[in-house]
Amino acid sequence: MKPATRLYVHGTFADGSALPPGPPAWLEAVLRQPVVGIALFDREGRYLLANAAYCRLYGHDAADLLGSSFVRVLPPGAATAALERHRRFLEGRDEFDGEWHVRHRDGTPFTVLSASIRVPGPDGRPARLTFAVDAAVAGRHARHGETGCSTDHRLASAFDSVSAQVCVLDASARIVAVNRAWRDFAAAHGGRLDEVREGASYLLACAQAARSGATDGAEAARMARLLAEVLAGQRTQFELEYACEPAAGEPRWFAARISRIEGSEPPSVVVVHEDITARRHASEAHRREAALLADLAAALPGVMFRMVQQRDGRWRFLYLSRGVESLLGTTTEAVYSDHRAMWARVAPADRAALDASVRAALAAGGRWEHEYRIVTPAGVEHWIHAKAASQPGEGGTTLWSGFLHDITERRRVEAELRASEQTFRNLFQTVPQGVVYHALDGRITAANPAAERILGRSLAQLLDHTSGDPQWRALREDGTPLADTDHPAMVALRTGRAVDNVVMGVQRPDGRRVWLLVSAMPVRRDGALAEVFASFEDISERLELARELRRQACTDELTGVANRRRFMERLQAEHERLLRHPHLQCALLALDIDHFKQVNDTHGHAAGDAVLVEVARAMRLATRQQDLVARWGGEEFMILLPDTGRAEATALAQRLRRQVQSARIAHGAGVLGVTVSIGVGALSSADDALEHVLRRADRALYRAKSAGRNAVAADGEPA
Ligand code: GH3
Ligand code: MG
Ligand code: MG
Repeated sequence: MKPATRLYVHGTFADGSALPPGPPAWLEAVLRQPVVGIALFDREGRYLLANAAYCRLYGHDAADLLGSSFVRVLPPGAATAALERHRRFLEGRDEFDGEWHVRHRDGTPFTVLSASIRVPGPDGRPARLTFAVDAAVAGRHARHGETGCSTDHRLASAFDSVSAQVCVLDASARIVAVNRAWRDFAAAHGGRLDEVREGASYLLACAQAARSGATDGAEAARMARLLAEVLAGQRTQFELEYACEPAAGEPRWFAARISRIEGSEPPSVVVVHEDITARRHASEAHRREAALLADLAAALPGVMFRMVQQRDGRWRFLYLSRGVESLLGTTTEAVYSDHRAMWARVAPADRAALDASVRAALAAGGRWEHEYRIVTPAGVEHWIHAKAASQPGEGGTTLWSGFLHDITERRRVEAELRASEQTFRNLFQTVPQGVVYHALDGRITAANPAAERILGRSLAQLLDHTSGDPQWRALREDGTPLADTDHPAMVALRTGRAVDNVVMGVQRPDGRRVWLLVSAMPVRRDGALAEVFASFEDISERLELARELRRQACTDELTGVANRRRFMERLQAEHERLLRHPHLQCALLALDIDHFKQVNDTHGHAAGDAVLVEVARAMRLATRQQDLVARWGGEEFMILLPDTGRAEATALAQRLRRQVQSARIAHGAGVLGVTVSIGVGALSSADDALEHVLRRADRALYRAKSAGRNAVAADGEPA
């Protein structure tokens, strides 16, 4: 078994872990560069680590290799022996250095030179750390015969197979060895490396390079100073990046890593140059991208975040956008160092639910979404909507990417909306007006309790019927049928315009007719008609009252016939009709009870009233529906006879006169009889004032009286 080594190789593996202890000698310094394939195997020969160069060598991904057995890179048949040797090696019974026939991932066979050492594995048990290079590359240099013994030969081969430019200096900065890449680079470029050959002074070369102008003189001077410090034992290593601007072509960037070989006395130094132009470009692009992302994230009204969850469940933020400062009043740095800084802002009442939600998401993976409140340092409460999605990260970790969004305003608007909806609902339920909603096809989609009450139908009976349904037996205000299509809601649906205060009658299932004052209002959504709501109130009583008032205003209280005002309205209308249609006829009778004063005087006023009522009844019986009987005043009456000529009117008057004459009017204990005198007047389109015809009728009445009463006289006829 090899002795425990003093050195630690600082390298980075594909999974980001540090390299375990490795072998001594200046090769170690070379191995710090990620250019030699390095892999670590557990007891069963499974890959625990593989660096980028190792992966390149075999054409595999690290993720693909880890956990699998190293025999996968061996040809079939070699596995058993190799595994046996691997075990013996770990037990200290065998060596593992040498040439191995292996296979590239694409199947190409090739040979590697490898050197292995025993190291403690992550579980503390022995593990095999292997350094491997392509034998074909190494072999080319072996043929140069620069080294003698086989181990040296292999190390030199490895040295030459390194893609970086490497040279080894002695204590006086004299170059004692350079690798193939160094020589190739020197050959390809003029100037600086051209001067750097075995035996030359490295410090001098630096000075020359600075003078040539290919590199910055200040950098070359710094390099010389730092190198001197390493040689003097004042520092063990340093790194320097510098630009090299060739006469033609793009400027290139190099990294120089200079380290003292540990334990070398007198000190010797290894210098590694690496062309980092591509890496630098990539990292610049990455920096630009990161800056762009940061700018974008800062412009967003919220917080973008990415966090990593370890296999053991612990997690931390990898990224947080600046929005966290304005949203939570906490610096991003504070949250990076301890994510509980964020937790402190969560409203105490919401902590338990948030905690449970986060735990559930971390346990289940996938997606996470939660709304909770935070309290800013100023004491203001905000609503946060958090949303994240997970994806597998490296080495069994889980990455969560997500977003925190301030939804305080949205919440407020929602609450207001809910409140206004509630208000509306209360109104809808409690207003005394009936409210009915109609879909575009006219169907009723909603109705409030008032609508049910007024219409005498339950909600179920209303829903899905249209307002044009024949069941309503709708009437207009004048009592004529209202067509389905003229229903206010239907009109509003058809025209898209509001319809106001239409009086209509509908039939309730209990047979009662109710009169409604209906308004229909179109409701638009996004500019398009969406529905119509109709509101209505039951005006049956009001309408009845109005009708009664109107009737009373036009009726003589004692006799129930029309009064003088009503008569004049009808006369006016008939006169106008006659003016429009001069061929039509219209007559009127002026009737006066004979010696009425005597009735009063003899039998009393009540008997007089009974006579008035009876005579009025006789007149109504003697006339047609379209005729109008009116009390003119006292015991005088007027009868309007539309579409009636003078002769017809005179005949009617005679008939009436006889009827009254033969009537026996009961009063008190007895009966009495009266007679009437009637004057007939004919309406003419030549009358320019209604007084004319009234006067003619009056004159005729006067003539009838003069003729001895109980008589009829017609206007325009001799007495
Ligand atoms: P003539 O044959 O000339 O028409 O004689 P007359 O008595 O009918 O005529 P006059 O106009 O002098 O009498 C009308 C009477 O009618 C006078 C008035 O007391 C009576 N009178 C008017 N209005 C009413 C009423 O509402 N009820 C009763 N009982 N009498 C009334
Ligand atoms: Mg009179
Ligand atoms: Mg009279």
